[in-house]
Amino acid sequence: MAPAALGRDDGGGTPESAFDGSRTPISDIKIVDFESYGESRPLLENRTITKLIEDLRFPTSLDASGSDAMNPSGDYSATHIRLKTNTDLTGHGISFTIGRGNDLCTAAARQIAERLVGKTLGELAENMGQTWRYLVSDSQLRWIGPEKGVIHLGLSACVNALWDLWGRYLNKPLWQLVSDMTPEEFVSCIDFRYIHDAITPEEAVALLKTQEQTKAARIKDARSNQAVPAYTTQAGWLGFTDEKMIELINSNLAVGMDKFKLKVGGNLEDDKRRVKIARDTIGYDRMLMLDANQVWSVPEAIRYMDSFLEFKPLFIEEPTSPDDILGHAAIRKALKPHGIGVATGEHCQNRVIFKQLLQAGAIDYCQVDACRLGGVNEVLAVLLMAKKFDVPIVPHSGGIGLNEYTQHLALLNYICVSGEKSLLEHINSFSEVLKYPVKTENGYFVTPWEAGYSVEYKPEAIETYTFPTGSFWTSDEGMAIQNGLKV
Ligand SMILES: [Mg+2]
Repeated sequence: MAPAALGRDDGGGTPESAFDGSRTPISDIKIVDFESYGESRPLLENRTITKLIEDLRFPTSLDASGSDAMNPSGDYSATHIRLKTNTDLTGHGISFTIGRGNDLCTAAARQIAERLVGKTLGELAENMGQTWRYLVSDSQLRWIGPEKGVIHLGLSACVNALWDLWGRYLNKPLWQLVSDMTPEEFVSCIDFRYIHDAITPEEAVALLKTQEQTKAARIKDARSNQAVPAYTTQAGWLGFTDEKMIELINSNLAVGMDKFKLKVGGNLEDDKRRVKIARDTIGYDRMLMLDANQVWSVPEAIRYMDSFLEFKPLFIEEPTSPDDILGHAAIRKALKPHGIGVATGEHCQNRVIFKQLLQAGAIDYCQVDACRLGGVNEVLAVLLMAKKFDVPIVPHSGGIGLNEYTQHLALLNYICVSGEKSLLEHINSFSEVLKYPVKTENGYFVTPWEAGYSVEYKPEAIETYTFPTGSFWTSDEGMAIQNGLKV
């Protein structure tokens, strides 16, 4: 499938690696090797990793960006893979972690990526659902999942790199690559094993067909940067002072960013003070959301939320363990009379957990994560299930590069699946390290037009933040973090 690219005069940058697909048939694009962060070792058939790069860690702990009740001092990190081909085409992919343990994910990603080496892009892209099944079917690796945890985070880096490669080959942004698919092609990207009881491929095709007629209008919204409304978490990290929070709320309001999320789950009195200050600054006519990052038990969540009723949050995010489907259902039932929703997803390990959350009526907002799930394919499965169960998608974007992914997911969900606008989290920490960082304008995301999946780090950023040998991590400041308290 190689539909013609839409015009590229709608703004956005010109991708360095734009690829003219007419020069090389897709069946001749062969993945010959890959670069990953981690230690070197010989690969099959005596190939060796041609370039060594360590995992990337960005010191967000320095200014408490990303701090929340469960994760007080994260250094947002990326497991990064580049799939090299026998042409000048390269596919870039990441998974997201928050520091220590990123090396485990790079080790997982390296093993999974070996399954791609020697294949052509043509055979991999011909049936993406089968390709995804193939990637999760190394029985020995599967034992340390299956389809969850570190091995799944490693998988997502590989799958995301493959979609990036495909998008660059077709010279299309990922959201457009998917939007140009027929319903049957879209559905063929999904491994339906374990979700047939929630949605069948036939139902999914029918659902997508109902959206076909009105799709053109939504693509028009994408072209005019009116498809994906943004909210920001950047003012509400738990480690920020009240003064910094107020300053950030006001600076966001000044540029049209008027929807906010605040971290809670620390000391209750501190939380109430912060939420009241935020509410008073934002006003009661604007959207405010809360996020507890899993710190509460189910009864605690219900009890603590009593303290926030007067501040009228739209939802409480991750009120308890991400594995507790019935616990979320109980919290949702308790909060429903107060008009407060329950949201979760950034730690939902696979499509099976999302299926059960939806079947149990446990969530009001479905927060898919581009890296926690096994890359684009599994996200598509969850988008379809959420639509069937009439639950809006509000993707999770915390991470350096994650928002660059979720902008595509929110766009393709709106255009192809849901047909309705929903929110997307905006994060811009360390955006200077990315070649194509997300942009917002008047409270909306600016539609990306670079080919592929938008995550590509600048070479100087890789040099600086490669762990532990990059220039930042060998500096006094970097060493202080490495030798500091591990919390
Ligand atoms: Mg969260």
